[in-house]
Amino acid sequence: MSGIFGVINRKGIDEGTASTAYYGIFSLQHRGQEAAGIAINNSGSFLVHKRDGMVADIFDDITLNTLQGSCAIAHARGSDGISGPDGIQPVVIRSSVGSIALSCDTAILNAERIREELKNQGAIFQTNTDTELILSLFSRNRIVTDTTEQALLKTMQELEGVYAMVIMTEDKLIAVRDPYGLRPLSLGKKGDEWMIASENCSFDALGAEYIRNLEPGEILSISAEEMSSIYYNDQISEAERIKNGKICIFEYVYVARPDSVIDGTNVFKSRYDAGKALAKIHPCDCDLVISAPDSGNPAALGFADGLGVTYGMGLLKNRYVGRTFIKSTQEQRELAVRLKFAVLKEAIRGKKVALVDDSLVRGTTMKHIINFLRDNGASEVHVRLASPEVRFPCYYGVNASSDNELPATHMTDDEICKMIGADSLGYITLDALKAALGGLICDSCSACFDGDYVAGKTEKK
Ligand code: SF4
Ligand code: MG
Repeated sequence: MSGIFGVINRKGIDEGTASTAYYGIFSLQHRGQEAAGIAINNSGSFLVHKRDGMVADIFDDITLNTLQGSCAIAHARGSDGISGPDGIQPVVIRSSVGSIALSCDTAILNAERIREELKNQGAIFQTNTDTELILSLFSRNRIVTDTTEQALLKTMQELEGVYAMVIMTEDKLIAVRDPYGLRPLSLGKKGDEWMIASENCSFDALGAEYIRNLEPGEILSISAEEMSSIYYNDQISEAERIKNGKICIFEYVYVARPDSVIDGTNVFKSRYDAGKALAKIHPCDCDLVISAPDSGNPAALGFADGLGVTYGMGLLKNRYVGRTFIKSTQEQRELAVRLKFAVLKEAIRGKKVALVDDSLVRGTTMKHIINFLRDNGASEVHVRLASPEVRFPCYYGVNASSDNELPATHMTDDEICKMIGADSLGYITLDALKAALGGLICDSCSACFDGDYVAGKTEKK
């Protein structure tokens, strides 16, 4: 998973394009912390700066000052199974029609087959990335089509899977949302700068106005002269296209920033409401409700309100723990939890505590947190989860990708409760979680909870 951002100044001038791209992608850091980059178009000449690390460490004033231009795209990369510099985006290539840059957040299910087909037609690949595959496919399609947008449409017809992309050509910024609309993507504006972002929290940070979500299957093209869209599925009405969308439900559970609004649903409110519903489904005899920070905070607040019990701080998260910590032994994993979380002993000593988290995927961190709470005096620890049991792997690059990482595939709730050492364990139901997504204008993917793979599974060779 990753964060993508794009900006174009429709007057064709540089009013701080690089800094808009910087703050835009900075606000999407939660979607990926492995690497980041910005590519900018300076009158047809493309400059790119990208490397490993967090956005704030990669760019400084000097770098941003050298990135001059009127259109830029940016990327914040999450762990995607590809090691080394190959997967760092944006990627810039020269095609038959000039320079083109791509930032994307993808899970292409038929990648191996397409790569083989392209190789058989003479294409060569330097990496194993979806980015290179998409650019190669696009370049081939661009030769036989009249416009960039048609070439992208043809590319979409060949790709299976889920994606959100921003593409920069010599005169345009183009955004693409996959036909399922599984990944979020939205349009915003500030003055003459038009922006595309994975989440609208970027627009708030920039003081820009949120205009709308992209529709599933939309190719939105913005240049100085015009702004227009074509659609993967133009046989159905706009209303149907939107309604058929299958946004990843995990965006609301965990992925998105709580201040974002995705496809009509306010992320914070959906988490709060899920917590409140959870209090009805699995009430708890406790003195204090605390959260597993920070992702569990909104649900814990809702749970406490639903229960009528005080919500308090029991755990604090240390924001300065890097991701490079190697956790190969049990002891190191426990140390990692003690470095990552601090217990407020006075708040929990002698108390029956309800610990609320957004989800339980592998359960290893939860186990250490519970241990840590008991060591610091909690008399009971009851775990409540604002999403159902994760019983199926995710083929779309968001959640755990293999069965054996997921205890709920082979253990009962009671067994998991014992494994993590809780006094009791309760999950929200999928129906209640869906009901908490107030205002949602489309359908959703919930395959990791129910095994219903809306976009199919990864193709094997
Ligand atoms: Fe999101 Fe789960 Fe669907 Fe993956 S399987 S896309 S995490 S809802
Ligand atoms: Mg968490």
